[in-house]
Amino acid sequence: MTRSFDAIIVGAGQAGPALAGRLTGAGMTVALVERHLVGGTCVNTGCKPTKTLIASAYAAHLARRGADYGVTTGAIGIDMPTVAARAATIIQDSRRSNEEWLAGMEGLTFLRGHARFEEPHVMRVGDDLLEAPRIFLNVGGRASVPDMPGVNDVPFLTNSSIIALDHVPEHLVIVGGSYIGLEFAQMYRRFGARVTIVEMGPRLIGREDPDISDAIRAILEGEGIAVRTDACCISLSRHEQGVAVGVDCTEGAPEVIGSHVLLAVGRRPNTDDLGLDKAGIATDAKGNIVVDDMLATNVAGVWALGDCNGRGGFTHTAWNDYEIVAANLLDGAARKLSQRILGYALYTDPPLGRVGMSETQARASGRPLLVSTRPMTKVGRAVEKAETLGFIKLVADAETKRILGAAILGTGGDEAIHGILDMMNADQPLATLQWAVPIHPTVSELIPTLVGDLRPA
Ligand SMILES: Cc1cc2nc3c(=O)[nH]c(=O)nc-3n(C[C@H](O)[C@H](O)[C@H](O)COP(=O)(O)OP(=O)(O)OC[C@H]3O[C@@H](n4cnc5c(N)ncnc54)[C@H](O)[C@@H]3O)c2cc1C
Repeated sequence: MTRSFDAIIVGAGQAGPALAGRLTGAGMTVALVERHLVGGTCVNTGCKPTKTLIASAYAAHLARRGADYGVTTGAIGIDMPTVAARAATIIQDSRRSNEEWLAGMEGLTFLRGHARFEEPHVMRVGDDLLEAPRIFLNVGGRASVPDMPGVNDVPFLTNSSIIALDHVPEHLVIVGGSYIGLEFAQMYRRFGARVTIVEMGPRLIGREDPDISDAIRAILEGEGIAVRTDACCISLSRHEQGVAVGVDCTEGAPEVIGSHVLLAVGRRPNTDDLGLDKAGIATDAKGNIVVDDMLATNVAGVWALGDCNGRGGFTHTAWNDYEIVAANLLDGAARKLSQRILGYALYTDPPLGRVGMSETQARASGRPLLVSTRPMTKVGRAVEKAETLGFIKLVADAETKRILGAAILGTGGDEAIHGILDMMNADQPLATLQWAVPIHPTVSELIPTLVGDLRPA
């Protein structure tokens, strides 16, 4: 029997449940299908557990630095089962609260199972056939496991399986020097593991400006993390001490021997098992569902939100996708993806808060630029906290007098960046930012100074 709804939502990650709330609130009958855990990646294996573990790692780091602040402690130990249990509790609480929210949603039919298209507006979930004039795909992504030599012969960790680890590896080798890899690298180093990052590219987080990338490498190396870049032809093989990672680098030993290996080489969208071909829904070369500026796919009445459309990659962008779709369908708005100014953070310590264009991207755009930078050693708040690593960079358009982008690599950078993000969203000129009177002592209070220091570059 085919069950009819006003809307079907596939995936109970970040966008799906909130959209279900708006649609049912507008009187629609909605089927929400989830094949695994309510809350999706962010709640169960992504943001929440990693930021919880990072907090434990930061506590360990501060405890070791206690003497710098005149605080004495005993020997510093890591109770990894307690660290892991703390993360598990936060995951479970968050998931439960999401489940309770959905359970109380009038008009919602929540189905557990894997949804697959049979036709453009018909989906199969087990023995059930569901049909609806509106279908919203919020299927997220999963860790990529590259087809590298030996990958099937050795045990390896991904961002999902490492969350439940209840012991500290003797030597964790992390394949992939991008955002996820770097967060785990510093975290496990602070838990007491030897850590080596193996990166194919010439530098870490290759999407960031070289000066940011170099500063982060220096911070990680300063904590004793080994970094191997230019690692072409990465391979894995069994070794009596665990796993041998062949790196074939231009310099250094050709192999790194680790007790554990974490593959952090990117994410792929969960679109290969959705039956998209039966619905005629287009994907790009990476498997992302192609959407227009209002998140509609090429098939009328089908939208794709969150990681699976390849247009964001963050929890806040998935949530913003929901806001755009809901506003356009229910509030008569005409919101567009292209109106979004992207901000994000890398949660190393110090964190990197980012918004808008990098300096490299701004230069490539060919505009006349103004740039200013300031080391965190010249930020009073950082000095007072004895956390002076990193720097702030502001990039502006010399003609329009608008900020194009910013990076705050420094203590509080993940929060302070929002002052700039808000100014960019409000489309305010540099003068507005310069005349603001931020609170003392904060990292943000130096932003007007950075504006004043902008010079042609
Ligand atoms: C280690 C890590 C750390 C991260 N840290 C951050 C961070 O600090 N900040 C940040 O903003 N982002 C972070 N992210 C990214 C963030 O988790 C994702 O961008 C976000 O979860 C995307 O939400 P989503 O709703 O698109 O997809 P998801 O949260 O992945 O949800 C998709 C859901 O769809 C379900 N599903 C898939 N296919 C089907 C199907 N066919 N039928 C039924 N159900 C299906 C899945 O089971 C899943 O529950 C992190 C990611 C990782 C891996």
